[in-house]
Amino acid sequence: MINFYFSDEYLNHDTGSHPESVERIKVVNKLLLKEYSNHNFYTPSLACKELIANVHDIDYVNDIFDKIPISDLIYLDPDTIASPGSLKSYLSAVGGSVDAVDHILSSTKEKNVYFCAHRPPGHHAEKNRAMGFGVFNNVAISAQYAFNKKKFSKILIVDFDVHHGNGTQHIFQDNPNIYYASSHQFPFYPGTGDISEIGQGNIFNCPLPAGCNSNLFRKLFKENIIEKINESFDLLYFSAGFDSHKLDPLASINLEDDDFEWITETVIKKFALNIPIISVLEGGYDMKALYSGLNNHLKVLQKYSDD
Ligand SMILES: [Zn+2]
Repeated sequence: MINFYFSDEYLNHDTGSHPESVERIKVVNKLLLKEYSNHNFYTPSLACKELIANVHDIDYVNDIFDKIPISDLIYLDPDTIASPGSLKSYLSAVGGSVDAVDHILSSTKEKNVYFCAHRPPGHHAEKNRAMGFGVFNNVAISAQYAFNKKKFSKILIVDFDVHHGNGTQHIFQDNPNIYYASSHQFPFYPGTGDISEIGQGNIFNCPLPAGCNSNLFRKLFKENIIEKINESFDLLYFSAGFDSHKLDPLASINLEDDDFEWITETVIKKFALNIPIISVLEGGYDMKALYSGLNNHLKVLQKYSDD
């Protein structure tokens, strides 16, 4: 069974005609209802400021709370919109990602698998800056929370969104016990993610040239991530973005539906056969590609979860 975190609050984060729209979570919801309705569903708790401030500067957190508009939409950065319903969406996305850690800690099962079906994405959000549609870095807050609990000594985050997760890399680049591995179009937004960025030996970037197809992707992903990382971990995260699909309008990487199955299975087989997995939704802006790519990702998560 996959443990899903999903909230109706994600329908209230109104971004108008922006690519990171309400339609995305409607598509995800449709998939979950059609194919995964017999799995476990939980409503995320709302994260508090103190929890978020484990990663983000508290002045920044307070500033975001203060800026949420009473009506209409505002821009927190040139790409990142807030509406009156956005705050609860942000807090639910963080909350679900952290609830999964608490669920692992209270579970007697060895192999728990989670998918946090939320919006907005978080991997561009820096400690003190909203960026790239995201305000709080969901995966980083969750991983830092898990690390602070001292039950997980080494954590791996694998980010296959087409964009580099600059926020996640910057947050963890000085923590040798939290590894961050990312495949992404490069050079491209947000500009970071060169192969030379290695942190304390815990950052593994896999830049992909524009036009990269399935075969080249698999070769580069194996060479730069799977074969380079030879450590044991006790918790795996996926920053799961589906904007590297060939149909996606925001980027120029040409992955097929079954590449998302391949990525998920290849990473789990190497690093996570016997450890918990928390996958959090990042990007994916073509609705057909989001549906099919996510379904391929979830099929593998289901295969490696306990019954
Ligand atoms: Zn992306």
